[in-house]
Order: sequence, then structure tokens, then C-alpha cells
Amino acid sequence: MIMKVRGVPEELQILRALNNRKSFTHQEKTKYLNAEKGYDGECKFDEWLAPLLNGKIVLNDLLLDYNHTIFQIDSLLLTSEKIILFEVKNSEGDYYVEGDGWYSLKGKEINNPLHQLHRNTVLLRGLLRKIGFKIPIDPRLIFMNPEFQLYQTPLDPPIIFPSQLNRFKAEMKKERSYVNDHMTKIAKHLLKLHLDKNPNTRLPQYNYDELRKGVSCKSCNAMYERFSKSFFLCSSCGVQEEYEPAISRSVYDYELLFPDKKITMNTMHDWCGQVVSKKTIQKYLTKEYHLVSSGRSSYYIKS
Ligand SMILES: [Zn+2]
Repeated sequence: MIMKVRGVPEELQILRALNNRKSFTHQEKTKYLNAEKGYDGECKFDEWLAPLLNGKIVLNDLLLDYNHTIFQIDSLLLTSEKIILFEVKNSEGDYYVEGDGWYSLKGKEINNPLHQLHRNTVLLRGLLRKIGFKIPIDPRLIFMNPEFQLYQTPLDPPIIFPSQLNRFKAEMKKERSYVNDHMTKIAKHLLKLHLDKNPNTRLPQYNYDELRKGVSCKSCNAMYERFSKSFFLCSSCGVQEEYEPAISRSVYDYELLFPDKKITMNTMHDWCGQVVSKKTIQKYLTKEYHLVSSGRSSYYIKS
């Protein structure tokens, strides 16, 4: 049973919106591509895990706080015997282990993911104890990408390599589990403690003026340049799209990037690149939003 489904993380949504509207530095681009890749790995993991959920509860993408330390868990699988804490990786390429460090074949040290797994396990155990639950935690670092290879791995670490995915799955299928009160209580409690926003997220700097304005094509992401009879037409790929979902995407990006700013007809007309008339913008906003008049200015809020 899935009690918390995985959505596109807000950080990735923001990076996607920015990628289309801002020239990223090399570092920002890398951060964005890593976020896409990580999310892709997590989705593959969800598919892999799907046949194993009988009698178990899964909570995806949890953000928790234990004694003012915020930690994020890719996936928690609650069984009647234990909690399996999954740290999901989608890395590819060749790496080796030397002492406590992980290195690429070129010798560049990368963050040792076992440290993160250990840290998350300690924090989760502390949190569970604090809220009055005692249950064994089985931490697992799982690599989803078949192009990943780690050399000189110490024996018996909690790692599941791509070549072991099938065997691990078969073993898990054999373990019997049934949903009981205890695990349901734990899951509900953790869900209540889940935080929506991670204050430690570091995003690229941006301001309204520097961002590219427009409505992006649903198919190729280029900005639409033509609009005719309620349809946007993409000059790059030839797709045509009705104005409502297209403008909705653009307004959503604005709300995501500027959560403190007000939605007004003029701002949205500018944000959408002035490809459509103010009348069309107004038609969209009137349908989907609620108009608030305050003195000489008026703005829209979600209805
Ligand atoms: Zn296109």
C-alpha cells in the first residue's frame, strides 16, 4: 500500500522552470541535470518496488526533522517486522572504494553515499524513539542504473547493485508481511511530521527581469511565437496547443518562482511574452482564479 506517492520535487520543478527561462552556469546546469537524473532513478525504483507492496506500507520522499536536523528519505518500506530505509542512486560510470572514500576512476572523490545512509538511519531511529516507536531499521543503498560499477567494495555493505536487483526482489517476495496497527500508526505519524519545504535547498539566484518571458511548447520546450484562434503554434516542432493548459503551465511557473508576488493581468501578460492578448489572459484568469479588488489595484488568487 502506498501511503505517500512520489511527486516531482519542488526543487526540480523550479530548476525545470528556470532552465527554460535562464542561462544556467555550468554548475547550475550540472545541478539541474543531476536532479533530473536522481528523480528518474527514483521513478525507476518505484516501478521496481511496485510488485512487492503486498502487506507492506510505503512512504516516498519524506522530509523530516529530528532535533533541528532536517533529513530526506527517498523511500521507506514498512513491513510487520522492520522498516527498510532505501537510499536510491541513479549514478552511472566506474567508481572504486579506498578506505572510507569513494572515487571515480579519474581519482575524483565523491560523497560516500554510505555516510548519508548511515546518517539518515541514525536520525530516523532517533525520531522514531522520540515519538515512542521501536522497530528495527534495515538501511539499503540501492543502485538502479545498470551502467554503474563499483570496484573494491567492502564485503557485506548494505548495498544493492543493479546485478543484484532481481535476487533482492526474490528474497523480499519470500518475506511474509501483513499490515498491522503498529506499522499503520508509525506511517501516519511520520506523514504528520513530513515537512513540505526544505529550508536548506539552495537554488540558483534569479530575478524577474533576467528571465525569458513566454509560454513554452508542451512538446519541445521552445517558447511559442505564434497564437491564432485560441491555439499556440510552435515554430520549432510544429505542435499546436490550446491556450488554457499552455497558459496554466506558464502561470504555474510564475507562482513557483515568485511565491510572494501577486498574480495580475498585466504581469501575466508580460510573463507570457505578450504573445497572446490581455483579453485572453483575462479570460483564463477569470475562469481559473478569483479576482480580489483592493483599491486601485486588483489581483487574482486561486479559486
Ligand atoms: Zn515545440
